[in-house]
Amino acid sequence: MTSNIVLITGGSRGIGAATARLAAARGYSVCLSYLNNRTAADDVVREIQSAGGKAWAIQADVSDETSVVQLFEAVDGCGQLAALVNNAGILERQMRVDEMDAARLQRVLAANVIGSFSCAREAVRRMSTRHGGSGGAIVNLSSMAARLGAPGEYVDYAAAKGAIDAFTIGLAKEVASEGIRVNAVRPGAIHTDIHASGGEPDRIERVKGSVPLQRGGQPEEVAEAILWLLSDAASYTTGALLDVSGGR
Ligand code: NAP
Repeated sequence: MTSNIVLITGGSRGIGAATARLAAARGYSVCLSYLNNRTAADDVVREIQSAGGKAWAIQADVSDETSVVQLFEAVDGCGQLAALVNNAGILERQMRVDEMDAARLQRVLAANVIGSFSCAREAVRRMSTRHGGSGGAIVNLSSMAARLGAPGEYVDYAAAKGAIDAFTIGLAKEVASEGIRVNAVRPGAIHTDIHASGGEPDRIERVKGSVPLQRGGQPEEVAEAILWLLSDAASYTTGALLDVSGGR
């Protein structure tokens, strides 16, 4: 049975795909989930396999609890889960709070917050020594938006990521004595497709002047931080929120 499995939700594109590639290069067997984009997910799997690594792609909607349970059952079929990267996340078209309807808030909170909670629950049930597991590590994808608030763009998304920060701190304390470390990475403006979902594909060009390093980040630069937090090199780090934001 394969051990050392990392599950990366939303591993078909962007930060998740970069994390999947790096995790495989560091010796993890990679289960990556995707929502709709099977072609992109299969491309990441093929790339990992042709470099000699192990990878599987599994379709799942993290905002749907049944789908999350099925995702983890599929991972069980691959081997023993050692780590979870709660990466899948969404934002919607830029607007002010006074334009947002409840349906949008439900979607944003379901994908970003409830999805991460559901996946963490399933991971803890498998990894916690309390449940007979061997321990493990969880990394949640928060955002600098949690601190900056994203006014005029997506305060709903920022609030969801604020919830991820509190979730990270609380869960880290809850499972620290059960062999599981829980941390979050808070990326700044990273070159991925997510900005197009907000209706501004070139958003980084607009905001990069406010980044002390004067540029957007690459998904691979976030992946390095995630892999460090997953690794034994971070053995005394739990409940941490690591900013990967060019100093913003
Ligand atoms: P992205 O390029 O838009 O990719 C999103 C990924 O999540 C895709 O793999 C997508 O699958 C998957 N996904 C979306 N909704 C899902 C759902 N309901 N269930 C399962 N999978 C779902 O995003 P990204 O920029 O790499 O962002 C990754 C994470 O980093 C997110 O949590 C995001 O909030 C966070 N983040 C990003 C930035 C940034 O500037 N890029 C900054 C701060 C934080 P499909 O390919 O099938 O659609």
